[in-house]
Amino acid sequence: MGQYTKHDARYMTDRDAAIEGLKQRKLHRPKRKNNDNLPAGSPIYFYCEICGWESDRVKEDYDPLFYRPNRTCDDCARAIARGYLLKGNVIAIKELIEKKKEAR
Ligand SMILES: [Zn+2]
Repeated sequence: MGQYTKHDARYMTDRDAAIEGLKQRKLHRPKRKNNDNLPAGSPIYFYCEICGWESDRVKEDYDPLFYRPNRTCDDCARAIARGYLLKGNVIAIKELIEKKKEAR
């Protein structure tokens, strides 16, 4: 028996909400700005490598030595921190649980 069960409604709700949120963000991905075509002085836009939504916006003359733009949006970063997604490898925890069951 795992640490979490169906009866842990709070955990399920939070996890399911995170996964559903990711699905919705991927389905309704906003149009990306092409940084190369923006007028001089425009900020540089960065997009989440998981869902495609804006993850950061920095000044054109930002110094990459002192600031590393976010490559994941806040929602995906939170889902990763809570263990619902694996960074750089989008596997929802549902699928991880299935794999663990198969491994038994
Ligand atoms: Zn994201």
